[in-house]
Amino acid sequence: MDYLPVFLRLEDRHVVVVGGGEVALRKAQWLLKAGARVTVVAPQLDEALGQYALDAALSHRAGTFREGDLAGAAAVVAATGERAVNAAVSAAAQARGIPVNVVDDAQLSTFIFPAIIDRSPLIVAVSSAGHAPVLARRVREQIEALLPQRLGALARFMGRNRQRVQAALPAAGRRAFWERIVGGPVATRVLRGDEVAAGEGLRRELRTSQLVTPAARAGAALGEVYLIGAGPGDPDLLTLRALQLLQQADVILYDRLVSEAVLERARRDARRIFVGKESGARGQQEKIHALLLELTARGQRVARLKGGDPFVFGRGGEEVELLQAHGIPYSVVPGITAALGAAAGASLPLTHRGLARSVTFVTGHEPQGSPADWGYFADPAHTVVFYMGVARLPAIVARLGAAGAAPSHPVAIIERATLPDQRVVRGTLADIAARAADLGLAPPALLVAGAVARLGSAEVLGTLGQAPAGALA
Ligand code: SAH
Repeated sequence: MDYLPVFLRLEDRHVVVVGGGEVALRKAQWLLKAGARVTVVAPQLDEALGQYALDAALSHRAGTFREGDLAGAAAVVAATGERAVNAAVSAAAQARGIPVNVVDDAQLSTFIFPAIIDRSPLIVAVSSAGHAPVLARRVREQIEALLPQRLGALARFMGRNRQRVQAALPAAGRRAFWERIVGGPVATRVLRGDEVAAGEGLRRELRTSQLVTPAARAGAALGEVYLIGAGPGDPDLLTLRALQLLQQADVILYDRLVSEAVLERARRDARRIFVGKESGARGQQEKIHALLLELTARGQRVARLKGGDPFVFGRGGEEVELLQAHGIPYSVVPGITAALGAAAGASLPLTHRGLARSVTFVTGHEPQGSPADWGYFADPAHTVVFYMGVARLPAIVARLGAAGAAPSHPVAIIERATLPDQRVVRGTLADIAARAADLGLAPPALLVAGAVARLGSAEVLGTLGQAPAGALA
């Protein structure tokens, strides 16, 4: 180990920054965050640093560096960009035993700044000991994505409740207790900003821990459900929160539309239960409800993973009603709905200046709606996205035509949007049914109708290669 990572307390301590430019500014900002009293030594300051000085957030000693600047300093940073000056600062600091950092010069430094993830009071510091700062920053970004934004609030919440837990539980049981808190419903509540509910959850967990027999404890354990939108298929389109919760779930209930690649992002040892239903299968939703109740009653953290967004043709609303009725804690994590995935996958904007001002998502399963609705859908300046529509394509085409859409009304079908074998077919009301049949388009696919369906790349992705079918002018 080239450097020992330690955390320095700088609150109200005097720290000197030599240099008045942008690099000095960045260091000064971190020092100020840590509560240091910062003095910047430089003949003049850049605008941003100058503003800090005007606001009296730091002090400025105008002039070149003198050894006397270091009097009483807890640390010093040299950021002048001039090696001779930096070397003089380093030598003076080392002669006085003051820790010194020379930016981008490990040899002249006795301490270095890591790449920082700030979820105060929780801090992650990453360093490559000066060998590869770009790599360290990259690692920082990767860790950053895994850490919920409100992790600091969770750390403070735990800190505030330490004494309460200490008073209630014997030392031997505390660690297991806190492990349950950080990985369970109490943490989920803090992380989504609901500290009141989190406090209630904590008190309940404490009561549960005090039950005597393991069986009684298991019976009272608090399970929870994460209702997660898995997006249209490409796992990189998961949200960060979806990823975080998939990493902590004990069980995953997933639908047919959830891709294998998405499931691979979940915790390795989580149990996976397929609960997809073939369209029309009866009783499946009831089975899912029963499973949700049974698993959470055993204290399990259940990820209910649905294709796209759970609240867009996903029956997520019914599951939420069930969870509310039974007082089961849950969180909803939105996902990218298929229409948005398809629009991106086909470079087909759903609204477009001068072409379309509004968009409707409608189920094509049972083409419903009043004649007035269909009159609106038939307007090319209005974009309609039909979900579950391929099987009903001829009926949809007929209804749009009957409502006044021209035979030349642009339409596009996007099959398996965002997946590696995505196919895009463009056409018109007059020819789309025949084209779809020729190509053997199959679910999952979306139909987009309206003037915008003409837009986007002509290229057909996936198995069709460069075939002209999708490259309609
Ligand atoms: N909750 C989902 C929709 C479920 S309904 C969402 O928000 O996307 C199922 C329908 O969604 C399918 O019949 C199909 O029309 C559409 N769909 C889902 N994933 C799709 C994909 N990758 N490509 C095209 N259509 C998709």
